[in-house]
Amino acid sequence: MKLLAHPRPVRRSHKIVIFLLLSWLKLPNITEYNVVKNKLIDIPARNRMLRRVCSLLALLAITLPLLTIAATPAATQNNPSIMLEELTSTELRSRIEQGATTILIPIGGVEQSGPFIALGKHNRRVAVIAAMIAQKLGNTLVAPVVAYVPEGAVNPPTGHMRFSGTISIPPAAFEALLEGAAASFRQHGFRDIIFIGDHGGYQQNEVRVAQKLNRTWGKDDPARVHALLDYYDITQTAFIDDLKKRGFSSADIGLHAGLADASLLLATAPSMVRTGAIAHEPKPGVNDGVRGDATHATAELGRLGIERQIDTSVNVIKTLLHEHHR
Ligand SMILES: [Zn+2]
Repeated sequence: MKLLAHPRPVRRSHKIVIFLLLSWLKLPNITEYNVVKNKLIDIPARNRMLRRVCSLLALLAITLPLLTIAATPAATQNNPSIMLEELTSTELRSRIEQGATTILIPIGGVEQSGPFIALGKHNRRVAVIAAMIAQKLGNTLVAPVVAYVPEGAVNPPTGHMRFSGTISIPPAAFEALLEGAAASFRQHGFRDIIFIGDHGGYQQNEVRVAQKLNRTWGKDDPARVHALLDYYDITQTAFIDDLKKRGFSSADIGLHAGLADASLLLATAPSMVRTGAIAHEPKPGVNDGVRGDATHATAELGRLGIERQIDTSVNVIKTLLHEHHR
């Protein structure tokens, strides 16, 4: 009683620990906070036991959250992204150590697709679909998109190079680029390195690079390179049949920037397709860089193709991994 009659003011250091304790308890409103604070501050400074309890609680308040962070597995602290570029080097290293040893190398390209489809069609489409494939596979990361690819002679220009915006690099440079990228991923511990190309023209270059690297690394090497041609092939076979079954003609479906091409893009990167212009402007032809008619293209039709691309790619990759790790 004597002590309570003459309480000594609480030291500043104790006020600080009380504040930390209250913050940690996250009291829901300021009134409650003040009631508890006043009660704690009323503790006579000479009451050693209470002061010690108070200090101990405050110490726990500070250390517990730190201990919780330390005990959290590395994976949940890491960025959950499957895109290699979004991870830090150490985040990537721990993902590989935890079993993410497959990497997809999406290959796009910059080429004209007539007046209604943006130049980066292949890049955007392959980035979106590769991420979906990786998500479905699990333990798989996605490399940056290869955006510079062979598109024909530059001068005098051939093929798509005759139209503004197309970028073409020599096939040898393209193959050397793929080689360097795959070798880098092998160096970092990836075991299955997979090329996924969205454009028809360079599919055989992918095969050549994969064969060359696998030959160089040898049969017993832990790493393999695969050229996943099925990703592209399915858009030229089963997807075309899907569209024909829905009544579209080969002339509409087309070979470049027609119904099939535009639908696939509407389902992945719709802002790249000028739907308003398609509906109102004159139909472009071969001289405009278009083979096919995109008038009836829809995202819904495109999704038929993309689902096929994802399912086929996932199944083929699973088989490749199974064979490789037998
Ligand atoms: Zn193309």
